[in-house]
Amino acid sequence: MTRSLLYEGKAKKVYQTDQSNELILSYKNDATAFNGKKKEVFDGKGRFNNLISSHVFHYLAEHDIPSHFIKKLNDTEQLVKKTTIIPLEVVVRNRATGSIVKRLGFEENRPFHPPLIEFFYKEDALDDPIINDQHALLLTDATDKELEQIKAYALRVNDVLMNLFDSIGVTLVDFKLEFGRDLLGQIVLADEISPDTCRLWDKETDAKLDKDVFRQGTGDLLTVYDTILKRLEAIK
Ligand code: 5GP
Repeated sequence: MTRSLLYEGKAKKVYQTDQSNELILSYKNDATAFNGKKKEVFDGKGRFNNLISSHVFHYLAEHDIPSHFIKKLNDTEQLVKKTTIIPLEVVVRNRATGSIVKRLGFEENRPFHPPLIEFFYKEDALDDPIINDQHALLLTDATDKELEQIKAYALRVNDVLMNLFDSIGVTLVDFKLEFGRDLLGQIVLADEISPDTCRLWDKETDAKLDKDVFRQGTGDLLTVYDTILKRLEAIK
């Protein structure tokens, strides 16, 4: 398969394949936080992100959530459908922690029933600010109907993934999704779902099994990503 580099982001490279509607996502070993201000290379990180994200997207497909994911190619790469990404970070929260505690003063760990959805504008130069639906309509080409569809998908993803993570002894605290339009113009889930993009806490001990250990310098990233992968592989 011939390939050419289309785009290099902080965590992944994207290659065009010889099929016009198929891309390769290649996961890098770089970990970044605080919009790239903190950076470190972890040998093997790309493999964990790829294998965990492939597992999660496969599981979502089995639960009828449309996404860009086609298949895992090897340890660090996956084949995906080409999409035009809508520049929104869609965050779903089941409990208060992280930026929402700082921003709005919610008590740490306060549960959200129903889960809370927030939109952030994906724009590094602005540090991904939180926005409302009207801002999203002005800043992106998403329609009202598409925003509603995105919110409905985000809640379905939350339901499905809460069950998946619960079955491996993990609480899904919050996570970030990205959506794109496929070549038919349909909204599909895109990007990755991994401990880089989710807060995952051990159900018994509340130990953090996600990128917060790197962001906060409180633990070993590779060890906790390995824990998540091993637990997911054990239920295959
Ligand atoms: P917070 O807004 O509390 O910082 O993050 C909420 C959730 O979304 C967390 O699970 C976090 O990992 C994820 N998230 C938010 N923004 C980003 C981002 O720019 N990159 C990544 N990888 N995850 C993000």
